Amino acid sequence: DTTHGRILYLEDVHVSFDGFKAINGLNLDIAPGELRCIIGPNGAGKTTMMDIITGKTRPDQGSVFFGSTIDLLRHREAEIAALGIGRKFQKPTVFEQLSVFENLELALATDKRVRHSMVFTLTGEEKDRLAEVLTTIHLASSASRQAGLLSHGQKQWLEIGMLLMQDPKLLLLDEPVAGMTDEETARTAELFLTLKGKHSLMVVEHDMSFIRAISEKVTVLCDGSVLAEGTLDEVQADERVIEVYLGR
Ligand code: ADP
Repeated sequence: DTTHGRILYLEDVHVSFDGFKAINGLNLDIAPGELRCIIGPNGAGKTTMMDIITGKTRPDQGSVFFGSTIDLLRHREAEIAALGIGRKFQKPTVFEQLSVFENLELALATDKRVRHSMVFTLTGEEKDRLAEVLTTIHLASSASRQAGLLSHGQKQWLEIGMLLMQDPKLLLLDEPVAGMTDEETARTAELFLTLKGKHSLMVVEHDMSFIRAISEKVTVLCDGSVLAEGTLDEVQADERVIEVYLGR
């Protein structure tokens, strides 16, 4: 739902773990098609925020909306994924024994389809999407290659491709370029710029040159709430941001 100009909306969200406030009055707004980078020191609450959006963690207080009408706090984790929110954790988890193509095919193997038969046929639309995804993730010439033989960066792209097979509206990615070579990082920036517009993306990253290459707007989290928001140059010039990065 794009009518209200936002795909994701968090308002005054709070979460405590044994009395410790991990998320403390968090407000966040993501526009449809936006690519937002999230930065912040360790313990800022970045992972907990993603856990809240995906339904893994329940907030004690606050609202979390997907589009203007879907109250995510009324949905379970599996339902939230089915609504079109895909999440990628830091480490790649592909099926190493299978080919790139088979990994992408399997990404469509919902419970229902597998129950009917272990071998299922892709629809024409799905075949087209698979071909498009292969190109987007820079693996069109490696479709028959065994996933276990891919480089670290290629495995990360394949996992992003598996999420794309579900045609998600919003993608949450945790440190996607960690461990990548400079060339892989540059090609990942290219990949993300292709996705932007068609999908909304929220990317937690530490690599500032990667952030500079992909993002117009950066949100700085600290102590469970937003410390600053703006372009990378703006937040990097912000005294409070400099203090949390250098002064702790
Ligand atoms: P980040 O991803 O920005 O490093 P986290 O969201 O992982 O931050 O953590 C925020 C704070 O909440 C940290 O101080 C962390 O120790 C604490 N925390 C996170 N999850 C739990 C948990 N399940 N139990 C207790 N404390 C937690």
